[in-house]
Amino acid sequence: CGIFAYLNYLTPKSRQEVLDLLVTGLKRLEYRGYDSTGVAIDSPDNKNIVMVKRTGKVKVLEEAIQEHFSGGEYSKPVLTHVGIAHTRWATHGVPCERNSHPHRSDDGNGFVVVHNGIITNYNDVKTFLAKRGYEFESDTDTEVFAKLVHHLWKTHPTYSFRELVEQAILQVEGAFAIAVKSKYFPGECVASRRSSPLLVGIKTKTRLATDHIPILYGKDADSGKPQVLPRSESTSEFMPLEEKEVEYFFASDASAVIEHTNRVIYLEDDDVAAVRDGTLSIHRLKKSLDDPHAREITTLK
Ligand code: GLU
Repeated sequence: CGIFAYLNYLTPKSRQEVLDLLVTGLKRLEYRGYDSTGVAIDSPDNKNIVMVKRTGKVKVLEEAIQEHFSGGEYSKPVLTHVGIAHTRWATHGVPCERNSHPHRSDDGNGFVVVHNGIITNYNDVKTFLAKRGYEFESDTDTEVFAKLVHHLWKTHPTYSFRELVEQAILQVEGAFAIAVKSKYFPGECVASRRSSPLLVGIKTKTRLATDHIPILYGKDADSGKPQVLPRSESTSEFMPLEEKEVEYFFASDASAVIEHTNRVIYLEDDDVAAVRDGTLSIHRLKKSLDDPHAREITTLK
C-alpha cells in the first residue's frame, strides 16, 4: 500500500499533467502490494475536488483517468495545484470502490484523505461523530479521519489547515501515514505519520540554500505565525524553506520521488508537514528537551 501526493507552486502544470504524475507515483509504489487505487484533484472551476477510484491495478485507474479527464479544461495549465493518490491494502472493509481512498467529509469533498495503516480507535471516533450527525459511506477506519477534520473545522473556524490535522491526529490511535487536501484550503497540503513511513520530496529550479528546515512548535492562532524553537548554542540558525517555484511530493517510499528529485526529508513519528503559500514547514505539537531543532534534507544517492 502507498501514498503519493504532489503539489506544484508557481510551476504551471495542467491537471492532466498532475494526474500523470500521480499515476506514475502510484506505479512506483506498486511493489508494496495493494488491492485498489484512487486519486483526488481540484475540479476545473477550483470549487470542488474530483475523485477517481478503482478496484484492482493502477493500470485500471489510469484508463479511467484517460477516459474521463482528457483534453479541455484538464489540459489548461494552472500555477498551483495539489493532488493526492493512494494504493490500498484493505484492513477494514472489503476491497471495492466505496472503500477505496481518498475518503471524504460529507460536505461534498470538503476534506479528502489518503491513509496507510490502521486507526485502532476508529469505532470510538465514529460513535463520537455519529452522535453529531455524521453519516458514513464506507466500512473503513480511514473515513473517520476525514469527518473528524471536518468536525474540528466546524467547531474551530479560526484554526489553520495544519492545526486542524494536528488536532485530529491527537485524537486517533494506531499507525498511520496520511495526506490531506481540502477545498477550503486550496494550494495547501498537510501530511503526517506515526509508525507508517512517509517522506517529503523537494524539487526546486535552483540549488536549495539550506540542508535543514526548522521544526516549529505552537499554534498559528496565537501569533499569526508558528514559533521557531529558540536557537541554542550548539545549532546554527535554520531558515524556513521559502522557495519561489517549487514542487513537493509526499510519498511512502523514495522510489516514487527519485525520478523527480533526490532531495528528501524523512518524517519522524508525529511530525506534521504542511505546505502553504509554497512554504514547507514541519511542526511538532509538544516540545521536549532532546528534540532536534530541525529535520535534515537528505540527498538520495
Ligand atoms: N486501514 C485502511 C483501510 O483499510 C488503510 C489500509 C492501507 O494501509 O492501505 O482502508
